Amino acid sequence: MTTMPTDPAAGAGRYAPSPSGDLHLGNLRTALLAWLFARSTGRRFVLRIDDLDRVRPGAEARQISDLAALGLDWDGPVLHQSDRLPRYDAAVEQLTAAGLTYECFCTRREIQQAAAAPHGPQGAYPGTCRDLTTAERAERRAAGRPAALRLRAGRPDFEITDRLHGTYRGPVDDLVLRRGDGIPAYNLTVVIDDAEHGVDQVVRGDDLLPSTPRQAYLATLLGLPVPEYAHVPLVLNTAGQRLAKRDGAVTLADRLDRGDSVQGVVAMLAASLGSAGGTARELLTGFDPDRLPRTPWVLDPDSLVCAAGGP
Ligand code: GLU
Repeated sequence: MTTMPTDPAAGAGRYAPSPSGDLHLGNLRTALLAWLFARSTGRRFVLRIDDLDRVRPGAEARQISDLAALGLDWDGPVLHQSDRLPRYDAAVEQLTAAGLTYECFCTRREIQQAAAAPHGPQGAYPGTCRDLTTAERAERRAAGRPAALRLRAGRPDFEITDRLHGTYRGPVDDLVLRRGDGIPAYNLTVVIDDAEHGVDQVVRGDDLLPSTPRQAYLATLLGLPVPEYAHVPLVLNTAGQRLAKRDGAVTLADRLDRGDSVQGVVAMLAASLGSAGGTARELLTGFDPDRLPRTPWVLDPDSLVCAAGGP
């Protein structure tokens, strides 16, 4: 695979799938967009596998081969979060040393119940374990409850700027930094990885927009730069729900099984972006984020006709 010339001093964009299964057309479209945003601005492009959770054997290899088949390329080796556990631990220690963490013994159910209380914060952690006394903590530990570690957030919300959504303010609650099973939490790892891999442009599905203020806030607490963001519309099924495997022939392999070609799938993704371009590289010419559709792409895989080529 040839790598396009990029200025090493320029920042990077990235795509960061979780290897929990095959990528579907919505994931592939987001990956294509992340690549277009990065490459059209001379950035490097990083492929990172978020493999601390939900790993399905074989999924990573298929994801990588699907992305390459679409014509996407990336700089340097494929990165893995599982190689970086000591780095996440160090960040947690840094925050703990600054007095910015506390142990939380709540179960998921307790948090849901507290958050559902009439005056509880909307979906945010209600702070149940924030001010436990030393004795109360010891009692919970002795009862064998595994403790998660939470951020002691110093503010209720934080503002970010998004290329497609403009200024966006969202809640910053006492987010989990390390889960009860010891695994570092996504909201922590993503912040550290993006900063340390030189990622200064984060393009991803807009389901993650609400988590972004807390990630940006966490970056500032860790002394890391906040990237620029572009949260792109998701792909929905005809019932208006987020596209899923059960919706039919939605992976690249499914489409090829049905007689579509890779070129046809890329052309279909291009058409969904309002472009007549044929290949990923052709799409780069004239790529303009301002002209992207701002509404979800509604997809009926059964009536899907690929826009170009046969097998
Ligand atoms: N691995 C995460 C996901 O697939 C990455 C999200 C992100 O792009 O920050 O949801």
